[in-house]
Amino acid sequence: MTILRPQVDGIPVPRPSLASIPYWEGCRAGELRYQRCPGCQALQTNPTIICWRCHRPGPEWVGASGRGVLYSWTVVWRAQHPAFEVPYAPAIVELEEGPRVMTAVVGCEPEDLAEGMALEVAFHRVDDEITLPFFRPLR
Ligand SMILES: [Zn+2]
Repeated sequence: MTILRPQVDGIPVPRPSLASIPYWEGCRAGELRYQRCPGCQALQTNPTIICWRCHRPGPEWVGASGRGVLYSWTVVWRAQHPAFEVPYAPAIVELEEGPRVMTAVVGCEPEDLAEGMALEVAFHRVDDEITLPFFRPLR
């Protein structure tokens, strides 16, 4: 039995940009966040300082429920970086609010992964700055 686990020790991690600081603050506080344009209401999960659709500055940060469904995934059996333990399952999760996020699924066996399976966010602290959002089967 191989349970997919969060990988946090020694893996390369993102560094916050000015646009993504609120996202990483949310992760540290246990809240997954995305952006909503106050003009056209477009949702985006890739933090920027303008709306991807209408280019209006100042998208607002919104807290997600943390629940979603598995949209797409793969299982990696040969790591591309020595810090990663295999297997792991990079995935795209569709949040219940609509936007999709890149993440990885943990807490189940690779064979359990199925399109549309219900998931919830699970945060794992890397260091004082970075806490990574993974997703696990909804309990
Ligand atoms: Zn917009």
